Amino acid sequence: MNTRDAFDLTRALLERHQLAHWTVEWDSAKTRAGVCRFQEQTIGLSAPLTRLHGEAEVRDTILHEIAHALAGPEAKHGPRWRQIARSIGCSGRRCTSDDSERIAGAWLGVCPAGHGVTRHRAPTRVTSCTQCSPRFDLKHLLGWSLHGDPARMHANYSAELKALRSGTTSVTMLPVGSRVRITTPGRYAGQLGTVVRRGRTRFHVRCADVTIDLPFAGVEGVGGEGVGGEMLLGFDDEYDDDGVNAFNDSEGFDEDACARLSALYPRSSPEK
Ligand SMILES: [Zn+2]
Ligand SMILES: [Zn+2]
Repeated sequence: MNTRDAFDLTRALLERHQLAHWTVEWDSAKTRAGVCRFQEQTIGLSAPLTRLHGEAEVRDTILHEIAHALAGPEAKHGPRWRQIARSIGCSGRRCTSDDSERIAGAWLGVCPAGHGVTRHRAPTRVTSCTQCSPRFDLKHLLGWSLHGDPARMHANYSAELKALRSGTTSVTMLPVGSRVRITTPGRYAGQLGTVVRRGRTRFHVRCADVTIDLPFAGVEGVGGEGVGGEMLLGFDDEYDDDGVNAFNDSEGFDEDACARLSALYPRSSPEK
């Protein structure tokens, strides 16, 4: 539901229940859809969760908070609150319905302005909000939570974000043919190899006479020598929905990053 309609609905419901003097406030909470602040006589609503939820769910959240306002702070979620909640048409469920968020996707990404997007899989690329900027922009980065808790990100994600923040080229963009050093602990740690294939999240690295399958973050680039083949700029089919710009998406294309990449990994053919 859009926040404008949700705001109007909240005002209308507050008036209906003799709470016209209460105010409505937006916040960017990710773990609860609404909150009742008795001292300030304010009902707070989560902008990202409101946008994700349908009208019936938003109405239920508003009525849940109105029931708190009518029942008073002592009532908590006890019998008095429950009785009032049901009498005004609220389902009487707790503040956040776990179900609704799971249906929308366990991963919730929220930009600094409070726009939300959901994912069913762990994000492996750094992405920014398309509502705030049509192109990738670190200023509008989506921060991720999983089932409402701050999320531990995929190694590729962390590596890409670190590279973006320090202004260097992300290892996730190394093209096929790049020389790399294996940084994943284990038998091949420290060995040099060549990227022979790129998957969605992993490289196949040829190392002497074996090919090893490693996450992007499991290698580091070792400079321009020996680079040939096609310049594969990272597409990620995971992020073709609305709401996110991958750093090096087909649309949110970052020319600066490409220039940096070209400088680091010049094509082997003497074109320019
Ligand atoms: Zn509650
Ligand atoms: Zn945004």
